[in-house]
Amino acid sequence: RPVILWLRRDLRLTDHPALTAACAGGRPVIPVFILDDQVAALGAAAQWRLGQGLEVFARTLADRGSRLILRRGPAQEVLQALIAESGAGAVHWTRAYDPISRERDGAIKSALKAQGIDARSFPGSLLFEPWTVQTGTGGPYRVFTPMWKTVRGRDVAPPLPAPGRICAPEAWPVSDRLQDWALGTAMRRGAAVLAAHSAPGEAAAQDRLARFIDEGIARYEQRRDIPGVEGTSGLSEYLALGEIAPQRCWHAAFAARERGGAGAETFFKELVWREFAYHLMYHSPQILTGNWRSEWDDFPWNTDRSDPRVIAWTRGRTGMPFVDAAMREMYVTGRMHNRGRMIVASYLTKHLMTHWRIGMDWFAEHLTDWDPASNAMGWQWSAGSGPDATPYFRVFNPESQLAKFDRDGSYRRAWIAEGQVSPPDTALDYFRAIPLCWGLAPGDPYPAPIVSAQEGRRLALEAYQNRSVAG
Ligand code: FAD
Repeated sequence: RPVILWLRRDLRLTDHPALTAACAGGRPVIPVFILDDQVAALGAAAQWRLGQGLEVFARTLADRGSRLILRRGPAQEVLQALIAESGAGAVHWTRAYDPISRERDGAIKSALKAQGIDARSFPGSLLFEPWTVQTGTGGPYRVFTPMWKTVRGRDVAPPLPAPGRICAPEAWPVSDRLQDWALGTAMRRGAAVLAAHSAPGEAAAQDRLARFIDEGIARYEQRRDIPGVEGTSGLSEYLALGEIAPQRCWHAAFAARERGGAGAETFFKELVWREFAYHLMYHSPQILTGNWRSEWDDFPWNTDRSDPRVIAWTRGRTGMPFVDAAMREMYVTGRMHNRGRMIVASYLTKHLMTHWRIGMDWFAEHLTDWDPASNAMGWQWSAGSGPDATPYFRVFNPESQLAKFDRDGSYRRAWIAEGQVSPPDTALDYFRAIPLCWGLAPGDPYPAPIVSAQEGRRLALEAYQNRSVAG
């Protein structure tokens, strides 16, 4: 009897325990991706990127004589229908760790098992399952460094090759057409620009990793904080969709640790920051929606999404070049350098005293590497309301940060066209991507700061002291 392989954020053939198990014994495998409410709720850029990833993955499967079946509807109903149509005796999937998926998957597993179907979930998205990492007293970690010390020497599952053969069923179930799903049409003009900055799929992910190991890892330690150079791996969009597994990244860096030196160690640490985000989401899922520290619940955040200063932030028109460059980078590439993310998040939550949820939602709409756990952790860390957060009184100064991390001005020039005689394509791409109704043009004057670095800091600290919330 066939095995249904229910694909989610694991669009790859290597390092895929659920696929490997499905293929064992030469059973026919029916790979399926389901467009359910969770997928429909993805932000525009993440949906667009998913569409690209599905297109490539469907081709990869077709090259192996298999197929990607696309179905729309509540996951349980779709799986039941596929079982009835195909006579499948098993359903396999890779675990997800967010609360909505966990509830859905748990209910599906119980219902299928009650019918005698072998419903099984597998690891594959993380280096360490969240329940296998515990403090000395047996609880979850709330601070990064002790967790890092606990896991840094642990064995990581070895790389798993793609299955030699993915057997086809006698008859294929019917599939929706990907273009009918119209994933990411909400991107409108932005999609064409994003496409020029994105290379979806497992092969592209592995190329990217190989390039980073060859050319980037030895200088990672020195260059990872400089947004104007390609100093980081650029793997986040692949990890977010599961086009590459974290253990492949870990082992590649481990094999290169002599050459990589401190860079390899720092790269491991960054991969563990991702693990920490999942650890937090698994053990305290409220991090996705509310202040992780409840002391922040009565902080006087601005919650008005139509506030002109918030709109200026979303459009990269705050008059603070570091903030604006980073926001535009996200519009054009679907990604933003980590230092940029920290600066724009600090500026929104501190200088503009705006609720981190507004920023988190804007990122969710515009990032192609959107990840629920890392996004929520990053925003709460920046705002000061999260675990192991930067204290609220530590306010990034976007001007001195620019002077320190963009010494030669290359990041600023790459993204801000205004004031340049011949702006580079990247800076012009922003104007090709944004909605026409914003009425912006490269020849516009660059705005004066909506809030000066010093004034924003003063206001934020004043509000913080009045409330005397713990930092
Ligand atoms: P590299 O420096 O090459 O790091 C390798 C990998 O380690 C990354 O691909 C990522 O998976 C992981 N990693 C690195 N830094 C972090 C971190 N601080 N937290 C968690 N994982 C990390 N990352 C996302 O993948 N999706 C998001 O939606 C996201 N939102 C963020 C929001 C804010 C406000 C902040 C401050 C950070 C956010 N991050 C997010 C984390 C980080 O900025 C990106 O993972 C990183 O910039 C990706 O670039 P890279 O792949 O070149 O990273």
